[in-house]
Amino acid sequence: MFDLLVKGGRVIDPAAKRDGKFDVAIVNGRIAAIEKAIPERGAKKVIDAAGELVLPGLIDTHAHVYEHVSGEFGLNPDAVGVKAGVTAVCDQGGPSPLTFGGFRKFIAEQADTDVYCFLSSYLAGGLYGHRYVDLYGPTGINVDAIASIVEPNRDIICGLKCHAEPGGFSRWGVKSLKKAKQASRKIGLPMYVHLGTLWSVKDGVTVDPAKLVKEFIPLFDKGDILAHPFTRHDGGFVSPEGKIHPLLIEALNRGVKLDVGRGAHFSYPNAKAVIEAGIRPDTLGADLHGYNTKAAYAYNSTGRFDDNEDPGAAKGADLSPTFSLLHCMAEMLALGLPLDHVVAMVTCNAAEMMGKQDKLGTLAVGRGADISIVKMTTGRYTFTDAGGVTFPATKRLRPTLTIRKGKLFEPKSDLLPVWQRPQAA
Ligand SMILES: [Zn+2]
Repeated sequence: MFDLLVKGGRVIDPAAKRDGKFDVAIVNGRIAAIEKAIPERGAKKVIDAAGELVLPGLIDTHAHVYEHVSGEFGLNPDAVGVKAGVTAVCDQGGPSPLTFGGFRKFIAEQADTDVYCFLSSYLAGGLYGHRYVDLYGPTGINVDAIASIVEPNRDIICGLKCHAEPGGFSRWGVKSLKKAKQASRKIGLPMYVHLGTLWSVKDGVTVDPAKLVKEFIPLFDKGDILAHPFTRHDGGFVSPEGKIHPLLIEALNRGVKLDVGRGAHFSYPNAKAVIEAGIRPDTLGADLHGYNTKAAYAYNSTGRFDDNEDPGAAKGADLSPTFSLLHCMAEMLALGLPLDHVVAMVTCNAAEMMGKQDKLGTLAVGRGADISIVKMTTGRYTFTDAGGVTFPATKRLRPTLTIRKGKLFEPKSDLLPVWQRPQAA
């Protein structure tokens, strides 16, 4: 007897090398069977998934869900997660060695979504999206404090969040990153490293992005993750001349990983340049946060912080997201990445990046029943990147139903973009 039977969908599970029509049966929140045809009579409830994709529970590797503590920046974990077709989210740098306790108790333990994090390498954590730059110098990093909070919390903490960008470099060179690397080696967990300008460069200093890359890259070990390769901001993968720094390619060749970290960092022309250079990002974080889903007060039109704006101005502003994790998957398809790779980015590759491949990222008998049921439609669509550049797409994806530990969640999140119909041919 099964509690739930997901019937007739196209299961795509890259880790299991499975792509085809399969039924999935669930008992007590766990997967009990995956077979070509499981009779309905053995099931208490049947979900007809014909015409839908049945995917291992999707994982968003770049979320910001330390709600309330990180100010307007932090979103509700279930609005980013189960209510948006995603079963697991990995917060990037919200909780810190000093504030992790609240993250476990009030976010991870309360949410229906499976919540993980890359701990902020800074004592302050990602308050208001790292808005106040003076908090993020090397004196704000304490290796022992990181080690002592990581040890009892390895179930949730997957690594350390750091930054390698011109604003910090103009103030402290690579000192903050060096200290974070020291901590990362001590705890044996990877760094997830933000690329591309976040803080404005210190007055009177100029930073050569090529020099920045040269100094940062030797600090990265195999398994560390570079984020925002498609950013149009200085210090990303693509120089203003459209060139990809050879040292970045060399880093990928020695096992450094790449996460899209879409957010405000998705430039279609730069993404095309990176993909055409033969680089395939490993994972796909949506990087949704309060400033790119609400009327942005602290992010100006370039996607950077604007210190002159009033943080109170966005209070009560309407949610106006233009993307979601599923939409980002469709963007990757539009860039020419194959569907099985795009699914791997948000399932098995994501699980591996987080060191949770024994628990997440594939559908297997005995594992927790975390499943994302997704509708893929074909048509003529126009997508828009973070800088307003439009580009053509032929596929869209939207969540139909999320199953987390066997429990059903409708895709009702306010953070899902308004669904557009395809244009007439
Ligand atoms: Zn982010």
